[in-house]
Amino acid sequence: MKEMYLIKIGEISLKKGNKKMFERVLKQNIKAKFKGYKNTVIIRSGRYYLEVEDCPDEVVSRNLGTTFGIVAFYKTLFCGKSLEEVAEKAKKIAKANLDAGRGNKFKVETRRIDKSLPLDSYGYSAELGGILLDEFSELKVDVKNPDWIVHVELREQGYVYGFGERGAGGLPVGTAGKGVLLLSGGIDSPVAGYLIGKRGVKLSSVYFHTPPFTSEDAMTKVKDLAAGVAPWSGGMKLYVVNFTEIQMLINKSVSPEATTLHTRAAMMKIAQMIAFEEGAGALITGEALSQVASQTMESLRFTGSMVSLPVLRPCIGMDKEEIIKISRKLDLFDISTRPFDDCCTLFSPEHPLIRPGFEEINEEHRGVEGLDELMKKATTGREVHIF
Ligand code: ATP
Ligand code: MG
Repeated sequence: MKEMYLIKIGEISLKKGNKKMFERVLKQNIKAKFKGYKNTVIIRSGRYYLEVEDCPDEVVSRNLGTTFGIVAFYKTLFCGKSLEEVAEKAKKIAKANLDAGRGNKFKVETRRIDKSLPLDSYGYSAELGGILLDEFSELKVDVKNPDWIVHVELREQGYVYGFGERGAGGLPVGTAGKGVLLLSGGIDSPVAGYLIGKRGVKLSSVYFHTPPFTSEDAMTKVKDLAAGVAPWSGGMKLYVVNFTEIQMLINKSVSPEATTLHTRAAMMKIAQMIAFEEGAGALITGEALSQVASQTMESLRFTGSMVSLPVLRPCIGMDKEEIIKISRKLDLFDISTRPFDDCCTLFSPEHPLIRPGFEEINEEHRGVEGLDELMKKATTGREVHIF
């Protein structure tokens, strides 16, 4: 059966000269989500409509609910513009709301765009309200505080819709370019991926794996996280880079309290090599200011200075509780908290450097002999997984 959904957009409507580009990308993204189903996306007078055939409601909810750029969507009935035809659809919406136990206080809201019609917007709302009251004795009109609204739009045809679902907001993925996410198995970095996807960035990700110190289970966890972020980020390519030799070299070359910083520096540089190949314009991490020693201003200055690409850190101003809240909302928290250590935890020094001197730490980093070769080797030998 063919169903129609009215899609409401948020920030895109504020765009001026380049609005068409945002619309085109949103359309592509919606179509990509429904590629297994016969579908059409229509943009007409600033309204977006999805027509899709034989697609279960929960699939529509999941697909539209994870598409950035959409603020709300409504299953919509369409019909001719006569009062009888519109009333018949309005009754269906009212019945569905009553059956779902959404309350009995309602109002009708009409937008009559077609000025050739006999009644004005108020006239249609009043007539339709009366028809619904006659049909369902339990209904009460409450224009100030309704439990639900029957929306009627009379344009080139009639559109009637009731209960809406919230969309994810943000901007369509792809409109802000591409980025490479440093994805660890923790709580923060997948949330960072989601947050930056929300601003329109299409993502690939890179995970630094340190076998045998980090287990296959740790890798599976990262793959599951990549798969969990994928619906929000227009799919997800995950690069797995074997980091063992680099970690070993760093451990034996630098002062113990500085190991994490040098490790992070190497990760940044490898991620940038991958970003350049991918044509990506930024790196993304899950860092939050002062969460750990490697995330103080001085530490971020050092690790950030390793790369010329901007490093986007969407969690920078968030506390752990806020990050966890998002992680739970995305159903990623249970994956992130599986008890498999990553290399950072395993190799983190007991007394890490908190405020590295910029010159000193750079000099120490330059002194790690053979690092560039190992980084190139690790980058070339990476594995790729697509989600
Ligand atoms: P997270 O929950 O994201 O792991 P964290 O609090 O554990 O964060 P750190 O371990 O200090 O923070 O890592 C900071 C950031 O560095 C991570 O958010 C991630 O972007 C990146 N990172 C750390 N370890 C790895 C890794 N093994 N592979 C890829 N990226 C990593
Ligand atoms: Mg971590």
